[in-house]
Amino acid sequence: MMALELGDDIIVIDTGLMFPDEEMLGIDLVIPDITYLKERRRSVRAILMTHGHEDHVGALPYVLRDLPDVPVYGTKLTLGLIRTKLKEHRLAERTKLLEIVTGRPFTVGPFEANAYDVCHSIPDAVGFTIDTSYGTIVHSGDWKFDHTPVDGRQTDFARLSAIAAKGVLLLLSDSTRAETAGYTPSERHVGEILEGIMARASGRFITTTFASNISRIKQIVDIAAAWGRKTAIIGRSMENYTRTARELGYFDVPAGSLVHPGEIGKLPDDQICIITTGSQGEPTSALSRMALGDHRHVAVKEGDTVVMSSSPIPGNEELVTRTVDNLFKLGAEVVYEPHTRPHVSGHASQEELKLLLNILRPMHFVPIHGEYRMLVRHARLAIDLGVAPERAFVMTNGDVLRFDEKGARLDARVHSGQVYVDGLGVGDVTQSVMRDRWSIGSDGIFLIVLSIDRQTGQVVAGPDIVTKGFVPEEDAADLIEGSKQRIADGLRQAQTGEHLAEVSALRDEIHATVSSYLYERTKRRPMVIPVLMQL
Ligand SMILES: [Zn+2]
Ligand SMILES: [Zn+2]
Repeated sequence: MMALELGDDIIVIDTGLMFPDEEMLGIDLVIPDITYLKERRRSVRAILMTHGHEDHVGALPYVLRDLPDVPVYGTKLTLGLIRTKLKEHRLAERTKLLEIVTGRPFTVGPFEANAYDVCHSIPDAVGFTIDTSYGTIVHSGDWKFDHTPVDGRQTDFARLSAIAAKGVLLLLSDSTRAETAGYTPSERHVGEILEGIMARASGRFITTTFASNISRIKQIVDIAAAWGRKTAIIGRSMENYTRTARELGYFDVPAGSLVHPGEIGKLPDDQICIITTGSQGEPTSALSRMALGDHRHVAVKEGDTVVMSSSPIPGNEELVTRTVDNLFKLGAEVVYEPHTRPHVSGHASQEELKLLLNILRPMHFVPIHGEYRMLVRHARLAIDLGVAPERAFVMTNGDVLRFDEKGARLDARVHSGQVYVDGLGVGDVTQSVMRDRWSIGSDGIFLIVLSIDRQTGQVVAGPDIVTKGFVPEEDAADLIEGSKQRIADGLRQAQTGEHLAEVSALRDEIHATVSSYLYERTKRRPMVIPVLMQL
C-alpha cells in the first residue's frame, strides 16, 4: 500500500495483506495500519488497484471499514475479484467500484491517472501513470515482460515509450526478483513443459498452482483438453477465482473440458486432469488432504502423476516437501524439482528491470514490493543505469518522500505498521497478546484460582489449580500439591503483619513463588496465572 498526497488530496495505490508467518500464532491475516489515512479520511479521494492478487487487494474490506466512501478504481477482472471479496464482508452494495480501461485517462482530485497493460501471473494487471503538477509518477504494479503471453496481453511498450517522451519524475517498480539475473521466462514456456509431462503420464494428471493464476489454470485446461483429458478444479479459492474470471470472460476454455470433482471416479484415469489448491503445502488445502488420503473426491494412488506448477514461497519449503513426501508414499510420480517443474515467475528479473529503467529514464527512483535486500539491489541497478544516487530512495513502511521546488528528499516518518486480524478481531491481538500466546505455546499454562475473605484475608476456597500443556498429567499432581503448599506458606507469612496484604501484592507474590518453584522442579517456565477472588 502506498499513498500519494498533493495539498489536501490523497490517492492510495493497492491495499494488500500479508499472510502470517509461523511466529504469528493464531493470526489469520496481517493488514496495514492506516492510522495516517484515518486521520485524513476527508482527503482520501480514491483507491487505485493494480491487480487482483491478495497482496494488493486483500486488505480492502478492512480499509473500507475506516474509509467507507472512498471509490475503488480497477480493471474489469480486478473489480470482479474485489466484488466477490466485498460480498463476503457485506460491503459490496455500498462500495463504489469504478472500472478503468487502460489508455483512457481519469481524473481524481488534482491527479490525472491512466493505466497501462502489464504482464503478470493474473490477467488484467496494470501499472499506473499519475500526472501531478510536479511531473509524472509511474507505479509499475507487479509486472514482467513476456513477449508471448498466453492471454495475448503484453506489457505495453508503446505506452511506456510515450510516457517516457513526456519525462518521468518518479518510477516506483516491483523488486520481487531484483536478485535474479537474466530474464524471467515466458508463461508459454510452462505450457511446453506441461505438455511434455502430460505426454508421459499414463494415469491421472494432478497439478497444483496458485489459486489466482488464471492464465496458468487456463493453459492447463487447454492442454489437457488437447490430450483428451477433462479437468476438475478443486479447492474453494481456485473455484472462486476461476468462476469470477469465467463470468467476466477471462477464462474461456473449450466446451465440455471441465467436469465436477464428483465425476472424477466415472472417467478412465487417462482422461482426467485435476487442478488443485495447495501449491504451498498449506495443511488444510485440497492437495495436502489428497496427500494424506483424506480428500472427499480424490485419493492419490499409484499411476498418478502429480505436478507442482509453482515454487514454494520462502518459508513454505518444509510444508511443500512434506506434501511431496506424502504423495510419493502413496505411490504417485511427483514432478517437483526446480529444474523440472513447470513454473515461471510473474515478476521481472534484472534484465527486464533494467529495460524498464532504460525506457522510462526516471529522474527519481523508488524500488517497491520486496524484502529490504531486494529493494537495495534494485536501487543499485537503477544507479548503475544512470539514476543519480541521491535520487534513488530505499524506503520502508512509514517513510515519506517529499517533492517540492527544491527536489525530492526523505521527510519525517508517519505512523505505520502491521495490524493482526484474528477471527472477527482486527487489531486486538497486540504484541503482548502474542507474547502470551508464545509463552502458553512453549511451556503451557498453570492456572491458580483462590478465594479469600475480604475482611480477614483468610482463604475461603482453593487454591484450585489447572494446568495444560506443561507436564504429563501423571507428573502434574505432585507439582500441584507442591505449589499449594508454597502458596499456603506464602499466605501465612503475608498475614502475620498488622496489615492485610493488598490483593495485587498477593497475586504477585503467588506468581513469583509458584514460578520459581516450578522452574526449580522442571526447568520450564509455564505461564503462571493466579486468579484471586475477594468474597
Ligand atoms: Zn501480483
Ligand atoms: Zn504482489
